[in-house]
Amino acid sequence: MIRRIDLRGADRASVDYRASVPRAEFDVEAATHQVQPIIDAVRARGVEAITEFSARFDGVQSDDIRVPREALSKALAELDPAVRAALEESIRRLRATSEAELEHDVTSQVATGATVTHRKVPIDRVGLYVPGGLAPLVSSVVMNVVPAQVAGVRSIALASPPQKNRDGLPEPTIMAACALLGVDEVYAVGGAQAIAMFAHGAGPCERVDLVTGPGNIYVAAAKRLLRGVVGIDSEAGPTEIAILADDSAEAAFVAADLISQAEHDPMAASVLVTDSLELADAVEVELNKQVFATRHTERIRTALGGRQSGIVLVDDMDQGVDVVDAYAAEHLEIHTRDAAAHAARVRNAGAIFVGPWAPVSLGDYCAGSNHVLPTAGCACHSSGLSVRAFTRSVHVIDYSQAALAEVADHVVVLAEAEDLPGHGQAVSVRFDATRPQQ
Ligand code: NAD
Repeated sequence: MIRRIDLRGADRASVDYRASVPRAEFDVEAATHQVQPIIDAVRARGVEAITEFSARFDGVQSDDIRVPREALSKALAELDPAVRAALEESIRRLRATSEAELEHDVTSQVATGATVTHRKVPIDRVGLYVPGGLAPLVSSVVMNVVPAQVAGVRSIALASPPQKNRDGLPEPTIMAACALLGVDEVYAVGGAQAIAMFAHGAGPCERVDLVTGPGNIYVAAAKRLLRGVVGIDSEAGPTEIAILADDSAEAAFVAADLISQAEHDPMAASVLVTDSLELADAVEVELNKQVFATRHTERIRTALGGRQSGIVLVDDMDQGVDVVDAYAAEHLEIHTRDAAAHAARVRNAGAIFVGPWAPVSLGDYCAGSNHVLPTAGCACHSSGLSVRAFTRSVHVIDYSQAALAEVADHVVVLAEAEDLPGHGQAVSVRFDATRPQQ
């Protein structure tokens, strides 16, 4: 069901772990070719194009993309109390970490009368994407909205795919979570067309400044293509889990966690990196047992059997850490004797889950961390979603006359060195003795 990649005995000085780890054949780059025409059509024809794509991809016929407020409050009124309680706990924990992570203005005095302030400003208007193709990810409402609200974003719009068995509205739990969090600008639009709608504006949806949120490969491809037209948090595409484990790991836990992420998408990736052949064998036995006892067997089998998944055998945990670092997983679990020490050595991962009692499912819902995380190796340059993504920083430069005079010669010299004398003149003119004094 899952392939093996044997890196034992590899020459560590020359091996390219990045090229050796499992990766999908159909990647974000490949999906951009399918997504570009969708973006072009939404840009050119707005809501008309969106409704055509909703008909084609979601099987929904409706010209009305904005979800009525009454539908949101009705969904909240009808929400299962147990789901509401779980959502409230998830919101409470994420709000606590978001508030703690909120950065404040920093003023540096670089000389007498010379200050530079690093001022934090919330983004004005954001578009949040909540997946709803294969599963209604109500938790993604929380993960997007809470940090945006804590950051102080003024205008929040949210989109999730229309459902054909729900009269073209998004899933009721998603609408209920929006109402619970006070978000009332909601669109029944999915996939790349939703990201294009946010970036360019369409019909009732004014363009936004930043798009955030997870999604499938088409959503990730649209984010890649529209970066620059609009701000993008990260490419948070089909889910990945990597597990670094030694022979102390519980095979049943490891298998369950590999399955839990494979359940998201046939394109999801589940990777085990271990120095224990016994564990690898035991995990395969567990996978065969557990996959058939779960609900989405076919989807999980496809994900585990794909080129993007595998069990990677290494000689020892030092090599294991190098491999998971090269892989840069969205989610990394560490099931080793010294899990905290191994976790501290890893540099590239969207989020790290330490030890057997911190499974990724906890992070998906209720850890207090954010589950919107970079995929496909992007964790080596991008971060998961947080309040930081919803703020910009502005340098505010405030110098007195004396402070400028003190550094004026340096400015003039550097301007001359760049052959930009006008830059130097802009300072010199202020100290020209012949200029009438104020
Ligand atoms: P989705 O809402 O992301 O995508 C559904 C939309 O995809 C549809 O509305 C449709 O418009 C579009 N679509 C479907 N087939 C298409 C095609 N052939 N061409 C163009 N567009 C097409 O929902 P989903 O499909 O269930 O995917 C959710 C994804 O989110 C999963 O891959 C999951 O792993 C991922 N996810 C990622 C993170 C993260 O932080 N990285 C977190 C949660 C979920």
